[in-house]
Formats: sequence, structure tokens, C-alpha cells
Amino acid sequence: MAPAAGTVDRLDPPTGAGGGRAPLKDGDGGSDLSGMALLRRLAPGSLLTRFAVISAVLTVGLGLVLFHVHSDAIAERARQQAERAVVVTVRLGLQPQITADDLENGLDPERLAHVTAAVRTSAGDTVRDELTALDPVEIKIYNREGVIVYADETELIGRRSTSDDLAEALAGEVESEFTSDTADATGSGGGDRRMLEVYVPVQFDGSPTPDGVMEVYLPYAPVATAISEDLRTLSVTLAISLAVFYAALFRLVAGASKRLRRQTAALHASAERDRHQATHDALTGLPNRVLLRDRLDQALAAAGRSRSEVAVLLVDLDRFKEVNDTLGHSWGDRLLLEIGPRVQSVLRAGDTVARLGGDEFAVLLPVVDGIAEAEAVAGRIRDALHRRFDVDGVGLDIEASIGIAVSPEHGTTSEDLQRNADIAMHVAKEFKAGAVVFQPAEHVVPSSQLTVLGDLRRALGRDDELAVHYQPLVSLTDGCLVGAEALVRWQHPERGMVPPADFIPVAEGTGLILALTERVLDISLAQVARWAGSGHRLPVAVNLSTRCLLDASLPDLVARLLAEHGVPAALLRLEVTESAVMADAERCLAVLQRLRGLGVHLSIDDFGTGYSSMAQLRRLPVDELKIDQSFVLGMTVSEQDAVLVRTAVDLAHNLGLTVVAEGVEREEHVTALRELGCDVAQGYFFARPMPAGDLTALLAARHLTGDRLYA
Ligand code: C2E
Ligand code: CA
Ligand code: CA
Repeated sequence: MAPAAGTVDRLDPPTGAGGGRAPLKDGDGGSDLSGMALLRRLAPGSLLTRFAVISAVLTVGLGLVLFHVHSDAIAERARQQAERAVVVTVRLGLQPQITADDLENGLDPERLAHVTAAVRTSAGDTVRDELTALDPVEIKIYNREGVIVYADETELIGRRSTSDDLAEALAGEVESEFTSDTADATGSGGGDRRMLEVYVPVQFDGSPTPDGVMEVYLPYAPVATAISEDLRTLSVTLAISLAVFYAALFRLVAGASKRLRRQTAALHASAERDRHQATHDALTGLPNRVLLRDRLDQALAAAGRSRSEVAVLLVDLDRFKEVNDTLGHSWGDRLLLEIGPRVQSVLRAGDTVARLGGDEFAVLLPVVDGIAEAEAVAGRIRDALHRRFDVDGVGLDIEASIGIAVSPEHGTTSEDLQRNADIAMHVAKEFKAGAVVFQPAEHVVPSSQLTVLGDLRRALGRDDELAVHYQPLVSLTDGCLVGAEALVRWQHPERGMVPPADFIPVAEGTGLILALTERVLDISLAQVARWAGSGHRLPVAVNLSTRCLLDASLPDLVARLLAEHGVPAALLRLEVTESAVMADAERCLAVLQRLRGLGVHLSIDDFGTGYSSMAQLRRLPVDELKIDQSFVLGMTVSEQDAVLVRTAVDLAHNLGLTVVAEGVEREEHVTALRELGCDVAQGYFFARPMPAGDLTALLAARHLTGDRLYA
């Protein structure tokens, strides 16, 4: 079941409870994307956190790749610089100290000393810095044959080298490479030092190919210092630019994610609002018809499983309209706001109070201990609602009618339960019976008639669908027009003319018949007044159903309408069927006597279809008896019908009543009825029921002939 605590749910603003739905405060606006503010958003597992971690890893990876590529380039550049320095030194500083002859024939001790001195000192201003910077560790000079002609370590002189680099240098290329241990190459021992070894071709003017090669070993340390300085610069630059890049990217994404979250929160909030609006009444915030239906469905499903009972109570406020009419709608609204809490106060937590519209409320008891408990709850609700309401200091009293339907007894679907509770509520309202439990046998309404009921209720709220036609009553003694019967007509907007037989019985089942009768009485009396005003004192007969006769307030209604239209009671006749009176003779009798007391004439309608005895008829304060048309129509062909008509006429006359024959369709009926002494006739032979205007025209024409309709 849906949360029942919300039975009197007010329209609270969406709380945004749960997860990331809390709306963002204005405070953390776009300008506040500072580091702390950003970090605070880094909830573990959030999308932003994932992005932060992944992009950090990618940025660091990018940094490493860039560092690697650049550090290789830096090392290479350092090597090239050192190599170039060596070449310059050799070309400008050393080569001038030796001759082609020195290379070809080797250096005698004197030349050797000279060259050594030259190597040890600077070779000239132009290269001083280079040389000082170079500070060669070791120098060897090879001749064209690869034989060492000069070396710092003199014992190496005269040896021959077959190294590839040397061969390349002899071919004209400058070669250089890093070596880590020169001990075996030089024989000088001295550990694992890193060196840059450079072979520089030496070529004198006029030689087509290099005349020899100088091999210079440089200490690696200065190069390494240069490299590491560059690398430090590189790493600092990289770190700063990547950090700036990362921060900018993060800020961008954090901003976008914040906007997204704000939009999502707004979407959530509006979806929540929509859901609430669709299921709740706008004025009171109570569940509406939709939510009630939903909860009822769930309650019925649950009850079906546990074999428990569910009750639906329809509550209608009887005097709410008065509040609205006399004090205005805003008072009505404020009163309606009080209803939910008042009803809720006598219910349990799991029960639902819904507003169905207007002054109609419904209560769902999802678990109830039979009809008796539902009735007890209805009683408590009525007591609660009958306590005076205090609306802004003004005490308001209302009354409530409640219809009760309990599942499974009165239906097992929400439609059935709601409809039956509705029927019971209308019965309660019409009979001012307080709370009424639906009674299946009496009130069952086939679903095809439900639309009729709804349509009829609507038609009663308008004044262009229901009309009254009038059928003339003709005296059989002189052919004069002695009255008319009012017969209701319903011009349905879609179905066209609906005959009374199709909606009167349905209306009788629900109590709607009272409203219908009031309408027919109202229209007919207005018409009687109009005719009287133009000089035609034409009595009109209106039909009453059983329901009306059971309503003790009927005589008051009739008296009020007569007074309102200024019609003398003698011009109104009320027709009651024989069977209606006999159903509950005692109650009807009281009502009939009061009506008779007003001066209204009464007729027994459809006589012959019931089983009233002479004794019963004698007790009724009626002055007319209408023989049912089935006997009149059959009297000329069936001896039985003829006997009944004759008996009825005699009986009526014996009781001092006037006799009317209904269903007079042919002249032979008129003849036969005249012979039997029947007083009045009504039927198609004289006239069909007609609109008031037609009868007015007829009256005007007949005026000249003394209202004689038939001679
Ligand atoms: P009802 O009171 O017996 O009314 C007479 C019905 O017989 C009318 O049918 C009338 O049109 C019809 N009728 C009249 N002359 C002839 C005839 O020569 N031959 C035949 N075959 N029928 C004739 P309608 O108007 O269809 O009314 C049917 C019934 O509906 C009425 O029977 C009455 O019981 C009920 N009804 C009509 N208007 C009202 C009303 O305002 N209130 C109530 N409670 N019942 C009404
Ligand atoms: Ca009638
Ligand atoms: Ca009749």
C-alpha cells in the first residue's frame, strides 16, 4: 500500500530528499569554483571524482611522455654541442700544432713535447673558453693507418686501433659516443667514469682525404650538468603548464557538471511536483480521485489475498452550498480545508481521506472489520463534521451524508465499490438518513444505466434538456377539455429524445427521482399559472413515484411550489400508482393526507395492475381512478378486459370517484366507455402528449366552442 501517513498530505514543497537531488544553494555560484569548493564536491564515487582521477592519470602520463621525448632531445643536443666544441677545438686549437709530416712519420720527442704543451695550454683566444670548458681528459692522434702517433699516455704511441668509429672518422665523419669505462682503452685505470669520446678527422690543405684522426675524451660531468639543468627547466615548465592545463580542464568540467546537476535537480523537482499535482487535490492537498483509485485497487488486491474487508465511504456535505452562496467561495474554500484534518482525526493511520471534487469526499478503510465497523467509522466522521467549524472566528455548521460500501459484499472492484457507495450516499442524502449502507437488492443499477444516471444528473443541472409535454383529458359526457397530464420529456444531446420508461425507473433506483419530480412540478405549475393568466383554468396532473411518497418533505415542497407560482391547489392533481401506495400504505397514507389537506387532487394511476382491495381504496384520500391503458386497449377484443373496465367504473362510482380511461386510441373505445358511464378519457384518439405551446394554441381555438375537444 502507498504510504498512508500521507492521508492528509498537504502540498508540501518538494523536499528533494535522497541522493544528489538536493537543490544547489545560490551560495556556491559560478564564481566560487575555488580549490576548496571544488574539492568539497569530490564526493567519493561521484562522476566528478572519477573524472578528476582519470584526467589526473592522463595528465601525468602525458607529462611523462613529453618529459621522456624532451629529455632524449636534450641529451642529444648536449652531445651535439660537446661534439661541436671538440671539433672547433681540434680544428682551431690543435690541428695548427701538427703537420702532415708529423702524422706520416710520427712525432720525435721534441715535437711531442711541443704538441703536449700546446694541448695543455690554450691554442688561441678564439678557442680558450671552449678548451677551458672542454678540459679534455685524454687526447690521441691517429695517422692514416690508424697508428697512434700521439697520446697523453706515451706508452700507447705506436699502437694501432681497428675501432669502427676510427674507420668512420678516417672516411671523413665526426663520430662521438658516450663510454662508461675508459680504463682498458687507455690503460690508465681510474674507475667507472662516464666520458664523451669524439673522433675528429684531421685533413690538411691539399689532401683529398683525411690525413689522420684526433680522438678526444671529455669528462661527462659538465655535459651531464648541462643536461640536468635543462631537464630541471623542462620538468618545472612541464609540471607548471600541465598543472595549469589540469586546473583549467577541471574547472571547466566541474562547472559543466554543476550546471548539469542543477538542471537534473530542477527536473527532479518539477517531475515530483507534476506527480503530486496529478494525484492530489489542488485546494486541500488531499489525495484526489486518481490516488484514491490507486490505493483502493491496492487495498482490494491485498484484501483478496488475506480475505479481509475493505470499505469505501462517500461523504457529501449537505449544507456546504449554503456556506458558498451566503458567505462566498473563499469561505467555502477555507471550510473545505478543515474537512480533511477533521475527518482524519477519527481515522487510523492507514486510512485515506480523498477529495473527489466540490463538497464530495471519500474515505478508504483498507482493513475493516465488516459492515458494522464501517458504519461505526461513518458515525464518528459525521460526529466530527457536525461539530461547529470555526473559520476566521465565524462558526459554521454543516451536515454530512455518507454512503458506505464494503468489499467483498458490495463488490470486489474499485468501480463497483465506488459506484455502490455513491448510490448509498445519494439515498442517504435524499432521505436525510445520515449514513446509509448500500443495499444490493434494492439499488442494483446495471452499468448501462449508469451513464443514464450521470447524464440525467447533468441534465438536471441545466434547463435546456428536460421538458414537459401535456396530454389532454377529455370529458366523455360533453367532449370538453377538462385537464392535462404532464409527462416529462428528455432531449438528450447525443441520444435524442429519451422516453420516460428509459430513465424514470433508473432515477427511481437512486433517489434522483426527487429532483426530477421537483423539476416537473416546477415546470408544470409555471405553465398552469401562464394558462390561468390567459383565462384557462386547466388542471394539470403530475406523476409521483413511490420514492416521492416515502419522502415526508414532499407536501412541503408542493406547498412551496404552489405558493411560488401562485397556483390554487385545486388546479394541481397528483397521480400515484396503485402498487406504489400499497407497498408501504401507512407511510404513503400520511403523505397523501397532507397533500389532500393542501387541497391538491389525487388520482390512482394504472388502476388494475395492482391488487388493491375495496377496503384499501376506501381509506385513500383520492378522488379519481385511472384505468390502465392495457385494459382499455383490450376491452373491445377481450371479454376479461371489458369486465375489468366495467368493474373499475362501478367500483369508482361506488366510492364516489371520477373514472378516467387511459389509452383511448379508437372511436369504438370512446363508444364503449360512454356506454359504461366512464367520465373522462385520455388517449391518442383525442391527442398525443404535446408541447405546452401546442396546447396553448388548442386552448385558444377551443375557447370559442366552450373548450369542446370532441363532440
Ligand atoms: P403514465 O402515467 O401511465 O402516462 C401515460 C403514458 O401513456 C404516457 O407515456 C402517454 O404518452 C401514453 N399514452 C397516452 N395515450 C396513449 C394511447 O392512446 N396509447 C398508448 N399506447 N399510450 C398512450 P409516456 O409519456 O411515455 O410516459 C410513460 C410513463 O412514464 C408514464 O406512464 C409515467 O408512469 C411515467 N412518467 C412520465 N412522466 C413522468 C413524470 O413526470 N414523473 C413520473 N414519476 N413518472 C412519469
Ligand atoms: Ca400517469
Ligand atoms: Ca397511467
